[in-house]
Amino acid sequence: MKRTLFSALALVLLAAGPAPAAQRPAPQRHAPRDFYADGSPRKPEFALTFDDGPGYITEDLLKLLAKRGVKATFFMIGYSVRAYPQRARDVAAAGNLVGSHTDTHENWYALEKKGKSQAWLKQEFRKELDRAAASIEKAAGVRPRFLRMPNGYCRGWARKEAASMGYTMVNWSYGSDWTRKPEAQMTAEYLKALRPGAILLMHDGGGKNREKTLRIVAAVLDEAQKKGLKPVRLDELLGLQEPSAKR
Ligand SMILES: [Zn+2]
Repeated sequence: MKRTLFSALALVLLAAGPAPAAQRPAPQRHAPRDFYADGSPRKPEFALTFDDGPGYITEDLLKLLAKRGVKATFFMIGYSVRAYPQRARDVAAAGNLVGSHTDTHENWYALEKKGKSQAWLKQEFRKELDRAAASIEKAAGVRPRFLRMPNGYCRGWARKEAASMGYTMVNWSYGSDWTRKPEAQMTAEYLKALRPGAILLMHDGGGKNREKTLRIVAAVLDEAQKKGLKPVRLDELLGLQEPSAKR
């Protein structure tokens, strides 16, 4: 459809001869892509993103974000949503963006290594996304449009498949809250990684000792205030809001 319109437009333009410079449409600088790992470095904004939830710190995290007047993005796993539907609902109700982190958190690099066929992978991929979306929609009342794959899996075929299903795939510019690094070092690295366009990855589900993530978020928000950076949802950071949600 788009192509047809474009061809028709091109024909009209050709027939009319070159337009004067002032009348030519400005090139679209931020055409949507199928994959992102950071936002524009020219805007004083960054995004907090949380994977693997909802989990046991989710409610405390929501309180912290609400206290600071901050909206974030939560990439939820289908099975976590089924375990804690109320938490998923609360995340969305507070105005945060809910994305998909697949249904069962399979490691797709490992599946590849097992020698699964491309056809099998594609079929499984669609199943994982559809099941996660159904659970998220049932619990939180929203259909996810953003996808973060477990382990940051981002092969070309998966991006294309996701795009054909209406998803934009998003990784991150920095994250380490799942590693064995000492918390002080972790915090220092998050603060250093805080810059315009940054997409910070943290976790509100999966694993133990997630309380440190709450402390890191508080430290990041303090630092953001000092640096004059505004925390925004990913759809805002990437300029991909639904038309009705644009402000
Ligand atoms: Zn994950």
